[in-house]
Amino acid sequence: MAIRSMINMIRGRRRDWFLDVIDDYFKSNSHVTSTIGYFRPSALSQCIREMQYSYIGVAKYPDNSLSSIKRMVRGIWHHDMWEKIFINSGIPVKVGKDYPVSCLCPCIMGTSDIIIENSLGDNQLIDFKSYANAYSPPWGHLAQWSMYAYLLNMNYGMNVSKGWLVREDPISLELEPFPVKLEMEFILDIMHGLRVIERYSVEKLMFPKDMRCGTKRAWGSGCSLYDFCNSEKGDNPW
Ligand code: SF4
Repeated sequence: MAIRSMINMIRGRRRDWFLDVIDDYFKSNSHVTSTIGYFRPSALSQCIREMQYSYIGVAKYPDNSLSSIKRMVRGIWHHDMWEKIFINSGIPVKVGKDYPVSCLCPCIMGTSDIIIENSLGDNQLIDFKSYANAYSPPWGHLAQWSMYAYLLNMNYGMNVSKGWLVREDPISLELEPFPVKLEMEFILDIMHGLRVIERYSVEKLMFPKDMRCGTKRAWGSGCSLYDFCNSEKGDNPW
């Protein structure tokens, strides 16, 4: 922005003009939030119905609100930061966005975080997550890590069998790594579940609501589709 117009803006507007500058940046960096016809491993921590909405193209943030956009853009920055730290460390790494993963049945697409290369041939996958429970990684994050590891092996022959889920405490920002390993039985269960959701979607049926889901949850702790899901349209989005 030219200096003169910036000065005019500061003189002419209310005291918190800088919030407008920041909001304008995020608005111009908004991303399309709906995907159609495939699952994302990052969605495996959602409830089944939320995964189905994503698969059939209901936008994850139907309100497309500025706060949703801000959180998404900041999430992307956050992952870029982890990549830079590992690349600059000199450790031999591959970054997930250079190795997008996919599968046809069920249809899955996504990108993992960081793969540490081991000269002996067994690479390790590191995935960063923000979550509150300090004792163990949630099921959905383990499912996500496992799916990335499995697809990296299938698509690129990377031989990933172990790695780390790194928990970032959302308040203190302390990091805690949990060792994880790939279990094929777990992958087969997930694949089966995704095929069932796919079949429901092809037949234009909707999965029942998650019975554990009783209240509207804040963004980041689960569901951004609460209002849509509980509207009449939520049961018949076609
Ligand atoms: S409101 Fe509940 S049941 Fe509906 S998509 Fe969200 S978490 Fe799932």
